[in-house]
Formats: sequence, C-alpha cells, structure tokens
Amino acid sequence: MDSDLIIQIKNVSYAYLDDGDPTTEEKLALDNVSFDVKRGEFVAIVGSNGSGKSTIAKHMNALLLPTSGSVLVDGMDTKEASETAPWEIRRKVGMVFQNPDNQLVSSVVEDDVAFGPENIGVPSDEIRRRVDEALRLVDMYEHRKKGPHLLSGGQKQRIAIAGVIAMDPECVVFDEPTAMLDPKGRREIMEIIERLHSQGRTVILITHFMEEAAAADRIIVMGNGKLLVDAPPADVFSRDDLGVLNVPFAVSMARKLRENGIDVPADIVTEKKLAEFLCR
Ligand code: ADP
Ligand code: MG
Repeated sequence: MDSDLIIQIKNVSYAYLDDGDPTTEEKLALDNVSFDVKRGEFVAIVGSNGSGKSTIAKHMNALLLPTSGSVLVDGMDTKEASETAPWEIRRKVGMVFQNPDNQLVSSVVEDDVAFGPENIGVPSDEIRRRVDEALRLVDMYEHRKKGPHLLSGGQKQRIAIAGVIAMDPECVVFDEPTAMLDPKGRREIMEIIERLHSQGRTVILITHFMEEAAAADRIIVMGNGKLLVDAPPADVFSRDDLGVLNVPFAVSMARKLRENGIDVPADIVTEKKLAEFLCR
C-alpha cells in the first residue's frame, strides 16, 4: 500500500446500466480513467457537462463501483469494502453536492450537523464537540438553533459542509458546491474549502469556475469520459487546445502585463499571488 496516496483510480471504466433497449448504444460514462490523489492534496476536476466529473466523484466514496478497473481509498478496494465494511469508505471520504436542499435532513441546524456522527455511533459528548467545531469552521455557530429553511443558499451549503466535517473525513469531495450560489456565497464556500485544505484535509473540487480551480495544486480536465490532462493550474491554463476559454482573470492579466514588459512568473494564476508579485 502506498501510504501517501488516499485515492487511487486505476483504469476505471463505468457504464450506467443499459435501459433494456437493444438499440441503445452502450456509452461509457468513464473510459479507462487513472489518477492518484495524495494525502493533503487539493485537486480540481473540470470539464464540460456530461464529461464524467460527477461519475468519477461518486466512485471516490463507493456510491458507484467501477464496471472495470479499481478504486482504492486509503488502500481499500471499494468493491471489496462495499461488501464487508461500506461505512469505512464513507467515513474516509465525505461528499458535498450542488444542491444543499437535498443534503439537509433536520429542522434544526445543529441536529442536522449531528445526524451523520449519530448514525455511526459516535459518543454523545464527542458529537457535541464535533458539531460545535464544524459549525465554527463554516462560520455558522451563531445560527445553530435556527431552522435550515430560514437560511440563504450559501448558508445552507455551509451547514451541509459542517455535516460532512462532523464525520471527520480525511478527504472531502465537492461536486460543484457553488453552482447554485451568488458570488458572495461562492467566495465564502471557497474560503471554507481553502481552510479545510490548510488544516491538512484532502480536497477534491469539481467546478465550472476556473478562478476556483486555480486555487488547487493540480487540475484534472475531463472530456467525454476520458481524462484529458492532469497538470498544475499554470500548465492547464496555458494550453490552447483544451478549450479552457475562460481562463482566470489573474492569468489573462498576467499575459497583458507580460506583453507590456513585466516579467510575471508563469506559475501565477490567482489574484492574490499576482497582487503579491506586483507589490513586491
Ligand atoms: P458531469 O458531472 O461531468 O456533467 P456525469 O458524470 O454526470 O457528467 O455524466 C457522464 C455521462 O453519464 C453523461 O453522458 C451522462 O448523460 C451519463 N449519466 C450520468 N448519470 C446517469 C444516470 N444516472 N443514468 C444514465 N446515464 C447517466
Ligand atoms: Mg456533474
């Protein structure tokens, strides 16, 4: 077992079960995809609609099992674990989805965050501690007694994230967590994601927003069920052939600065880093 790898995707292909109609062509949602994620890494996954991003995400905590190939989570094969110890995988890898309304189950915020740990039999004083810590982490502690229906979309998403964190997963997979939020809500979720990463958790972020992907250590580009590229953000944004049309603002600004003779290093892809460079 490679102990520094939390997730290993090995030659994974996946076909959604066919609909019984023999004229339907069997289309692979994933086609021989392989990549690893190291402990503590922050990996972004981008790609057009239907390219297989959500399908790959669901393989990372055994919501789906490969049609062929294998997925190892902390060395455990998800196919074997789903028979013997399904909770082991879910405890290691938490998932946050696009729509927070589908992830909230209770009528009081703190009960919602406690739901997961209660289900896996965490002792009650430990639950109390984890719930408070998770709510503070997402800046929602003062809203703990409220009903989730009274909250904004961004606040609901933060509660959903707290619910996942209260399970204390080593890795969190975010599947377009900001897609339904306004710009302020998006920024707040990104701050929380970066906070989780700086605490040492492994983060996998599926997103349409290149500004968000720029914050990652690596970007994986999916297309038509295949892995097209797996490279640092600066490399991905510099490739014209990938159809990454909307490069982050910092990347296009850095290009214009270079055209004007300012030698901005190639690895600067975020506004924060660009500002730091210009003020140095
Ligand atoms: P993405 O998240 O990148 O938009 P998905 O992983 O959701 O892509 O989908 C990959 C492919 O699998 C698409 O062609 C999609 O139509 C198909 N697909 C996704 N979910 C299902 C499903 N439940 N049943 C059948 N086909 C599906
Ligand atoms: Mg998707």
